Order: sequence, then structure tokens, then C-alpha cells
Amino acid sequence: MKHIYADPTFQLACDQFKLIADYLGMPKNLRDRLMFPKRSITVAVPVPMDDGSTQVFEGYRVQHHLSMGPTKGGTRFASSVTIGEVAALAMWMSWKCALAGLPYGGAKGGVAVDPRKVSKTELERVSRRYMHEMIPFVGPHTDIMGPDMGTDEQVMAWFMDTYSAYKGYTVPEIVTGKPVSIGGTYGRRESTGRGTVYLIERAAHLMRMKLTGRTAVIQGFGNVGKVAAQGLAYKSGMKIAGISDVSGAYRNDSGIDIHAADRHVRKRGSLAGFSEAESIPPQELLTIPCDVLVPAAVSGVINAGNATKISCRILAEAANGPTTVEADKVLFERWSETFVIPDVLCNAGGVIVSYFEWIQSLQSLFWNETEVMDRLFRILEQSFSAVIKRAKEEKIPHRFAAMAIGLERVMKARKDRGLFP
Ligand code: NAD
Repeated sequence: MKHIYADPTFQLACDQFKLIADYLGMPKNLRDRLMFPKRSITVAVPVPMDDGSTQVFEGYRVQHHLSMGPTKGGTRFASSVTIGEVAALAMWMSWKCALAGLPYGGAKGGVAVDPRKVSKTELERVSRRYMHEMIPFVGPHTDIMGPDMGTDEQVMAWFMDTYSAYKGYTVPEIVTGKPVSIGGTYGRRESTGRGTVYLIERAAHLMRMKLTGRTAVIQGFGNVGKVAAQGLAYKSGMKIAGISDVSGAYRNDSGIDIHAADRHVRKRGSLAGFSEAESIPPQELLTIPCDVLVPAAVSGVINAGNATKISCRILAEAANGPTTVEADKVLFERWSETFVIPDVLCNAGGVIVSYFEWIQSLQSLFWNETEVMDRLFRILEQSFSAVIKRAKEEKIPHRFAAMAIGLERVMKARKDRGLFP
């Protein structure tokens, strides 16, 4: 079928959905309603540039389903972003929120801009104008925004300020992932990476595998990848044998100094030129033999081309959609060798703490970091146990189990509400 979402990432999300829908025996009329987003918005974002010209960027927002409450999802700034990719990310958010028991449908937004190629003032104007264009479609009880690749606390602060200026009063609950100084929550910045580390430790415990001294490889050194690397190195005692970002990949089998890598990125803006590890071709990073592999960057990186060469005990999918359906089959055949923590579970820490931030902003009642982390780990524990139990009982892959639980919850909400009129 031809539709506006035609894109490899949307195709991946649909392929995964169809497999689970078949497994659950989902009726045809419900399939299309759940696969295709409820609402998609495309906007032109005209921005005055520093050189006096005006550039028009494409902006998107996709709200996947409205059955369980407002929609919730991050905003991606990347030159390659398409409405299909945004729709896929919105769909994954739906299953993720349902699996974690959060009262949200999934959403996602994006602007086709490379944040590294515009100045800070241009980035502010892009952010504010995009938010301005979105005002008719979002709101604290309709669709709540948050960060994703290419956006950070500063961008969320600009979103919140622009929306508040329009309303005439401060509306912190319109976005999550904002700075603590304006109503953000403690622990949000670290939540996805820390959640990933928590789940890796749980998986290792189940496998009776001690993480201390073992090796981990992490793709992506941004918000999620860096925090995961720090946790695995300094909390779990692992050696980080490989790291990468968009500028290149680095290997050191005796363990990379993650503090040094962090200092380098803070100073230079990327890992380019990092001299404390050997520079390797980026495509070799994921196939370094290791105990824990953490893709924490883009989708589709574990695919038919490299799946047989992946050699890890635990695959922790911190990124959204890092593994294609073809690669999944290969990994499942080697089930006893590779313990997959699927994305909708592995990176759920981000949206769970965003949910806490939304609640705190709505109530103007703030929690301390211990409270946030305790509650986060409790929800992750429930989700992890439910996925493992279901996978074991029905002899299905973890991704199947995680998505089946999420899909069933959305289906039940749809059924209970009925179809209007
Ligand atoms: P970020 O922008 O902070 O960092 C992204 C990192 O990936 C950067 O280091 C970038 O250089 C690197 N990168 C980009 N393209 C790459 C490539 N082709 N190869 C190797 N590295 C590449 O983004 P983030 O917030 O850390 O998000 C990373 C992933 O985690 C995304 O898939 C995102 O959807 C997912 N995720 C993020 C959150 C969150 O809370 N930030 C929550 C859930 C899921």
C-alpha cells in the first residue's frame, strides 16, 4: 500500500507489529487502526538565519493512538528525519508506554535540521518556531513533548517558554526533560542510561553472570550512550572495550577511560580525535566480541548484514529500533547465547521518568532523586519480570513478549472504550 509514511524505519515498526498481531490473532479491522497513526502534522518552520537569509525547515509531529490518555513523545532534530521515521518512533512509544503501565499513547516529533550545523541562536529560533507551529496540536492533556536525538534540556526550556509565552502563564507540564530550575525532575537526564544499566544487571543476574571485569561495547555517546557507559564502567565494574559516535569508533580491549572520553566530547563536541583508544572503522564496532552490547544511537544497525557476526551475551537495545526483523530471527536461533533486552523495555526509563516529571509539574509537588530512582526501578522491575515470565511460558523471544503485553493493553483499552459513533 502507498502512504505518506513509506520509510525503512516505519516498515520495520510495521513488520514487527504484524508479527505480533499475527501471534495474538488480532482482527483485521483493529490492525489498521493500531498500525497507522491517529494524527500526523507536517509544518513548515521558517527561520531567519544569522546571515540574513530565511531557511524553511520541515517539522513533524505524529500522535499514534489516543485510547489511554494524552500522547507523549520526544522530538528528534536530525537532517535525515522523515515523517515515516517519526511515525515509527511514535508507534514504538505506544507499546513502550503500555508495557510500563503509563497512561499515554505514543507520539514523536522531528525537525529536519542538523543541530551541529546551525549556530546556537539559529537553533533557538528553530526550536521556538517549531513549538509555535505545534501550539494548536499539543497541550499538557493532549500531547506532551520531550527530548530525543539532537535535542536536550535547553531545547525543552525554549519549547516550554514559547508555549508559556503564548498562554500568558507558565506551563511546565507541556514538556518533560526540561532543566530542574524550571520544573524539570531530578534524574530525567540520566534515566534512560541508568534504566538500561539496571536491566543489564537484572539480565546478568538471571544468567548467573558477574559483570565485574567483563567487556561492554556501546554505540552512540550522547545522553543515553554516555550515561550507560559510565554506569557499566563505574557502577557495574565492566571494561568498556568500544565506543562510538557519529564521528567515529574507538576500541581498547583493556578498557576505555570513559571520564577521559566525556572530557574529550565536552571540549571538542564529538569523539573525533580521541587518542586514548584505537580508531577503528565504525562498521566494526558492533561485531567486537563482548559480553554486553549497547546500541544507543540510530535504528536498523543490527541487520541481515551483520547479525551472524554479533557476538555478545546481552544485547541491550537502548536505541529505538536498532535491530531489524531479519536480524531478530538470527538472534532468536542463538537464543541460549544472546539475551535480548528489547528497546521498548530497555530504554523505557526515559519515558517513565518523563511521566514522573509530568505528574510533578501538574501538581507543583517535587520529589527528590532517591524517590525518582526508586520508583523508576520498581516499574522497570515489574516490566522486566512480566516480559521474562511471558517469554518463558510461551517460548517466544523477549521482543515478542514485550510487544505482546503492550499491544494487548492498547487493544483492551480500545475495546473497552468502543468505536464512536
Ligand atoms: P543524543 O543526540 O544525545 O546522542 C546520540 C548519539 O549517537 C551521539 O553521540 C551521536 O553522535 C551518535 N550517533 C548518531 N548517529 C550515529 C551513527 N550513525 N553511528 C554511531 N553513532 C551515532 O541522543 P540520545 O538521547 O542519546 O538518543 C540515542 C538513542 O536512544 C536514540 O535512538 C533515541 O531514540 C533513544 N532514546 C533516547 C531517550 C532519551 O531519553 N534521550 C529515551 C528513549 C530512547
